[in-house]
Amino acid sequence: MEKPVRQPREHWADINTRVSALNGRYKHHAAITVMEKALDDDDTGDVAMVSSFGAESVVLLHMVSLIAPATPVLFIDTHMLFQETLDYQTEVAEKLGLTEVRKITADPKALAFEDPDNTLHQFNTDACCTLRKTAPLENALRDFDAWITGRKRYQSDTRATIDFFEVETPERIKINPLAHWAREDLQEYMIENRLPRHPLVAKGYPSIGCAPCTSPVKPGEDPRAGRWRGQEKTECGIHFIGGKAVRVGPDGQPIDPQDGAADTTKPDTNRTLKGEKVA
Ligand code: SF4
Repeated sequence: MEKPVRQPREHWADINTRVSALNGRYKHHAAITVMEKALDDDDTGDVAMVSSFGAESVVLLHMVSLIAPATPVLFIDTHMLFQETLDYQTEVAEKLGLTEVRKITADPKALAFEDPDNTLHQFNTDACCTLRKTAPLENALRDFDAWITGRKRYQSDTRATIDFFEVETPERIKINPLAHWAREDLQEYMIENRLPRHPLVAKGYPSIGCAPCTSPVKPGEDPRAGRWRGQEKTECGIHFIGGKAVRVGPDGQPIDPQDGAADTTKPDTNRTLKGEKVA
């Protein structure tokens, strides 16, 4: 059942003011400190993390386990995932002591109606992602005022100026603790903290989604080349504006007004400590 849109707390300033204040307060902090502050700051409200338990997810999961292991972690089980991902999710949650991993699944009635034989992905991947990922996640996020994502500036031009805190919808804030991290920082963090890797990474899958839509990547290919191979689609559509999924543009990136926001948070140092980049 679709949940009502969450209402802001009575004493809160408007969301743009709160996000601006959050970015001002924490712009010089390191990723793990940003997460720690975000989980404790009245301006963020109730916060969840969203994780695919994919190739690099363990970095944020490890950070949250150090700060507040009972933080709700929303994991979307599309019923199309690799068995390795399901096993890895269990392994990581146990190893890190995450006590509040919540499996998010599609509405059974909607599934039975729209994809009764599990073949929707073969002829309409956008509709399948909306049914199995975007709609269930949007519904689950209505229990929260903010959510933590793994988005990073290096990933695309449209993410090149993202801040630690963004207005996602009029009611919800997106938190990007790793905004200033590079791919190498993630690798370094995983190695130095001896974190378990998704077993498919070693088999040529640097980016891991649903089994029917993910293939191995050859040396020299873009890490996401194995996602929806042969299609223009490159994003699953888990980006919301005004409570609705955002369409992707011709470059395959989400058309997200927040991504084009002016950058007011310049990194002041590039120091790394145990893989932790100080922004
Ligand atoms: S990635 Fe493929 S199988 Fe998974 S929800 Fe999207 S279209 Fe469906």
